[in-house]
Amino acid sequence: MTEKASTVHVRFADVSKRYGSVLAVKNLNLDVLRGEFLTLLGPSGSGKTTALMMLAGFEEPTSGEILVNDRRIDNVPPNRRGIGMVFQNYALFPHMTVAENLAFPLEVRGLGKAEIAERVASVLDMVRLPGLGERRPDQLSGGQQQRIAVARALIFKPTLVLMDEPLSALDKQLREQMQYEIKDIHARLGVTFVYVTHDQTEALTMSDRIAVFDAGTIQQLSDPATLYERPQTRFVAGFIGENNRFDGTVERVEGQQVAVRLVSGLTVRALAVGEDTARTGAPVVLSLRPERLALLHAGAEADNMLQATIRQTVYGGDHIRLVCTAEGVGGPAGQLVVKIPNRSGVPSLEPGAPVRLGWRTEDCLALAP
Ligand code: ADP
Ligand code: MG
Repeated sequence: MTEKASTVHVRFADVSKRYGSVLAVKNLNLDVLRGEFLTLLGPSGSGKTTALMMLAGFEEPTSGEILVNDRRIDNVPPNRRGIGMVFQNYALFPHMTVAENLAFPLEVRGLGKAEIAERVASVLDMVRLPGLGERRPDQLSGGQQQRIAVARALIFKPTLVLMDEPLSALDKQLREQMQYEIKDIHARLGVTFVYVTHDQTEALTMSDRIAVFDAGTIQQLSDPATLYERPQTRFVAGFIGENNRFDGTVERVEGQQVAVRLVSGLTVRALAVGEDTARTGAPVVLSLRPERLALLHAGAEADNMLQATIRQTVYGGDHIRLVCTAEGVGGPAGQLVVKIPNRSGVPSLEPGAPVRLGWRTEDCLALAP
């Protein structure tokens, strides 16, 4: 049956959760759209798991309501919410085979033997482990066990799938491979995924939209590119990707652009994106990604330029980082990091060498401090 659908699948309306003196989730308002892959991203302790557990029905909101398909779910027990879940510490029953582990939620639901066998086979195909049904969990690698945990969450064909840091126990290579696989499964099934991670690269890779959590609130809800290109707060700019930061004061406003006077006395131009930054006299913090800074060759020009000194060259394989200093600019030690693609090996730049750095105005964001 196709559900008569509003585009909103899940709605958190003013949801808060208090544990004693800790307000783990504060007035959360969030709509998850039908069929989207939405990620809750944030540092440890920011309330991601708590939000997910309330949706799953394992925790009760202190206030506010959660709606699924426009209906309040407060009184629906977890096993009746039709939600598939994958946790960080996947627990397969050790004494059962993989097939028995997968069949279990279907047997509980009273499905017939033939249908169960067919679904077990199809879900094993989906996680690319066909033929492993007769193994016991201890005969599988960590990555294979995690795939079975994903399969188990999908086997009763839920329309909503929740995953809480499902890949964090895996090594980097396997984690990256599983990111693509889970994304692919999402695309094939077309159901709604709410995914929790503290890993920004994972969030950028997998998601349609990302909600950045900080201390129980959402700082920004955007698609990955917008989040990276146009962070709206200093926290988001610092949490997603690397950035160079300089403090300054707005001298002049010209539409969306501002001229900002840095501590060094130098004036540079930036795009005002944060709250209350397009105002003369506003204190701002400028955020500039290392890969948007360029080394200027003699005679080359850029929207914004400054003189710096090379301190260190760091070889990163596919890229090279130049750690520079410029007086009155950059982080605590006046440091500026430039990231350049490695097209022709390490440039011959000795520590102490003077360089000119340049960047485009629209790549430098003025945020509220
Ligand atoms: P995250 O998943 O983003 O790491 P959590 O949702 O687990 O964050 O936790 C948010 C806050 O709530 C933290 O300060 C955490 O210590 C607290 N918290 C979570 N669960 C409980 C609990 N059962 N009892 C008391 N405090 C809790
Ligand atoms: Mg958590």
